[in-house]
Amino acid sequence: MTITAPHPTTTRPAGDAFADRHIGPDAGAAATMLAAVGLTGLDELVDTAVPADIRQQAPLELPAPRSEAEALAELRRMASRNVLRTQMIGQGFSGTLTPPVILRNVLENPAWYTAYTPYQPEISQGRLEALLNYQTMIADLTGLPVANASLLDEASAVAEAVLLMRRTNKARAEARTVLDANLFPQTLAVVQGRARALGFEVEVADLSAGLPEGEISGIVLQQPGDDGAVVDHAAVVAAAKERGAMVTVAADVLALTLIVPPGEQGADIAVGSTQRFGVPLFFGGPHAAYMAVRKGLERSLPGRLVGVSTDDAGAQAYRLALQTREQHIRREKATSNICTAQALLAVVASMYAVYHGPSGLRAIAERVHAHARTLAGALAGAGVELAAEQFFDTVRARVPGRAEAVVEAAEALGVNLRLVDADSVGVSADEVTTTEHLVAVVTAFGIRDAEAAVTAAAAAARDGAHALSPAVTRSSEYLTHPIFHTVRSETQMMRYLRRLSDRDLALDRTMIPLGSCTMKLNATAEMEAISWPEFAGIHPFAPGHQTAGWRELIDDLEARLCAITGYAGVSIAPNAGSQGEYAGLLAIRQYHLANGAGERTVCLIPASAHGTNAASAVLAGLQVVVVKTAADGTIDAADLDAKLETHRDRLAAIMITYPSTHGVYDADVREVCDKVHAAGGQVYIDGANLNALVGLAQPGRFGGDVSHLNLHKTFCIPHGGGGPGVGPVAVAEHLVPFLPGAAAGESNGRTGTPVTSAPYGSAGVLPISWAYVAMMGGEGLTEATKHALLSANYVAARLDEHFPVLYTGNRGLVAHECILDLRELTARSGVTAEDVAKRLIDYGFHAPTLSFPVAGTLMVEPTESEDLAELDRFVEAMIAIRAEIDQVVAGDFPVEDSPLRRAPHTAVAVAGTQWDRPYSREQAAFPVPSLRQDKYFPPVGRIDGAAGDRTLICSCPAPEAFEN
Ligand SMILES: *Cc1c(COP(=O)(O)O)cnc(C)c1O
Repeated sequence: MTITAPHPTTTRPAGDAFADRHIGPDAGAAATMLAAVGLTGLDELVDTAVPADIRQQAPLELPAPRSEAEALAELRRMASRNVLRTQMIGQGFSGTLTPPVILRNVLENPAWYTAYTPYQPEISQGRLEALLNYQTMIADLTGLPVANASLLDEASAVAEAVLLMRRTNKARAEARTVLDANLFPQTLAVVQGRARALGFEVEVADLSAGLPEGEISGIVLQQPGDDGAVVDHAAVVAAAKERGAMVTVAADVLALTLIVPPGEQGADIAVGSTQRFGVPLFFGGPHAAYMAVRKGLERSLPGRLVGVSTDDAGAQAYRLALQTREQHIRREKATSNICTAQALLAVVASMYAVYHGPSGLRAIAERVHAHARTLAGALAGAGVELAAEQFFDTVRARVPGRAEAVVEAAEALGVNLRLVDADSVGVSADEVTTTEHLVAVVTAFGIRDAEAAVTAAAAAARDGAHALSPAVTRSSEYLTHPIFHTVRSETQMMRYLRRLSDRDLALDRTMIPLGSCTMKLNATAEMEAISWPEFAGIHPFAPGHQTAGWRELIDDLEARLCAITGYAGVSIAPNAGSQGEYAGLLAIRQYHLANGAGERTVCLIPASAHGTNAASAVLAGLQVVVVKTAADGTIDAADLDAKLETHRDRLAAIMITYPSTHGVYDADVREVCDKVHAAGGQVYIDGANLNALVGLAQPGRFGGDVSHLNLHKTFCIPHGGGGPGVGPVAVAEHLVPFLPGAAAGESNGRTGTPVTSAPYGSAGVLPISWAYVAMMGGEGLTEATKHALLSANYVAARLDEHFPVLYTGNRGLVAHECILDLRELTARSGVTAEDVAKRLIDYGFHAPTLSFPVAGTLMVEPTESEDLAELDRFVEAMIAIRAEIDQVVAGDFPVEDSPLRRAPHTAVAVAGTQWDRPYSREQAAFPVPSLRQDKYFPPVGRIDGAAGDRTLICSCPAPEAFEN
């Protein structure tokens, strides 16, 4: 008998459009929802909610939608245009082997990649544990006591370290920062860009020759250096301390398993990338950078810091620590603007360390080091001059006038080397390197009988040739915690990953109705391509003729984002929304400077803005002036006029979010833009809420000069438990010359200040957004926006009588999210918005955004991806919670002993022998019948945050905190 395989479909069968899979409600459900809102059709909804004067007239000019199969075929075609070579370029990016158990069970597992940032710690214990492992790993390897849970990339992490030194070394507040000339060129470029923006002095000097004269705020060293040299920094660190300067060392994590860590040499701060711990090259990112600090600096640490605490039963529990938030809200000391970081990649790196343990990591490092020593021996044996006497993985060879020829010869043999200049070649060994690769490299240098040379050099290396000197050799232990010693077999690893992810609520189990964060579907077909070797295995500094596929995808995505936003140019380089803000504001700043208007440094920011706005403005060297919000949530027109009048001559820009963070389409946005333009300012429209605009209105057409987009919100890149993100910056024609250029490697075609290590930032996750746009097409994207509006208005309409909707626009409609006001209920019952957020966990839900942008409220954004049944499950949970609040009001139980205040309920609490609460165990755990079948028990009960922490849900600060 023959079985005929079904023919692969090349065109989409009717009714199977991807958009129909992406959008939750079908036509029947949509009709039900429209009826609940009191409208007859989606178009009526849009025509009513969105102001007519900003509506886009023509449909989006995008190619016709592709099926999943077609989009994947197209991605395969582009991937095949990239040339995969053995990458021995180094320069901060190394080949690595992602253990398949980690690839599949973390990077490709929705339980990990669809999780939200762990602001609700009770449902985030799994990822918080993984991030705490990461922090422990970094602290051990660097020899410093406190590490954060990741930063965006190595170059920006060094910039953060420089700023940290400048704000904590108060005695040297005005002094310059000195960067060692042996830093990666991309690090130098990004730090110099930051310094220019903030107007402080940096000097690049060869610190191996000693410190330059004069006052110094801090110095930055690199270990190993850009040329590969491992240098004993003890003397220069001591000299710096003697002179009152602080010290940052950018260090390679794998090297730190063998060499003396920065903390033991007296460094204050260590930073670097953890990419080579199992995270693919990804053409430059996303990769988790790290930062560790000495005692006393923890309160100034940028980014997120996981801390250990206890729950209401005294059990150990993890949470984001207070310090992170505190340092963000310190007045006029605006520090970092980091919000989204690189959580998922930090988890991968931490699991790589858990899986290999200290002895496994050391073995990998020794193998890498042995390869480098072998190579050095073979080259030196043939009379080639080397740049450094001791090194870890990188050998820089001097071949006067021949460098290009050597690099070309190596490429012909399948290996990429680093072309340093006409006379020097860099070769970096890594976990992937084999003896065959070394033979190819030695051959490329023109050495005869390369195989014999390598064999002899390997034997010499085994006998100690080119070994590290005792002064730089590490003797201290690391990764001594049991977690780095207990997970060895794949079965154990698989179960550890499953156990942790089971403790968490991610998008694979429930809707995550987070206002401003757009937790929509991350479709499998969108995710699939990111781990293909032809995308994932490309080095960011590979020669352009090897990266045609990547650049085609990036050009095409940028063009599509232009078509969607109505802007003239887009750069996908920024690694998060906050970095897009910084890049966009830098573009504005550079534009004013180019026009001879350097005095324009005032940035107006409405009180309701997301915290990153103000922080980014400060980092771009601008002065924040807050504009009041009127009672109806719109910008206070009188206050805007007054501020424009006062600051007219110094106005740089206004930053507005549209629709506003209140979830409403303000009708006067055009007028606001016109007024600011009339005063000589530029308009920055924060595009995080683009999910309410795509296909309906274009910020580049209704008054914006710049926007950043959040591809990890509107364009389907998953949140990863707090990153990765991609924050493209989109600009009007006159700002195109100021889009961020490449900090190193080949030009990315742009000329503005670089902001990222890699020319294309976190390129590795761009296939996700590309696939989303390609599969939806213009009509599908517009349909998605309409459904996002419908879902929000449906939830608002159904919940309004139970929890009043705070702000509405035309005819009582909201945009894509709505704010539920609990303040009156709180006053009457004592039940807080936080109580409701925690009680939702017992109903199996992730909480909405808590107390942003208005304290005492919940902001709900359901997105277009949730089907009607899921929306109803949420609405019913909220209505049941409202009934419980009424029970408190009626005196059935006191608020302190109510199922709301005692929420969430663990299995231990509910099933213990003791039960002395004035409500039943059934009400505690199974308040609605559907929970009997699908019940999530949080692993810990309510975690008691410190008092000042209680009303904050986002680590990003209020703009007032930045006003001088
Ligand atoms: C999420 C968000 C940002 C910041 O984006 P990140 O990627 O987290 O840095 C900025 N503005 C608004 C309105 C946002 O919702």
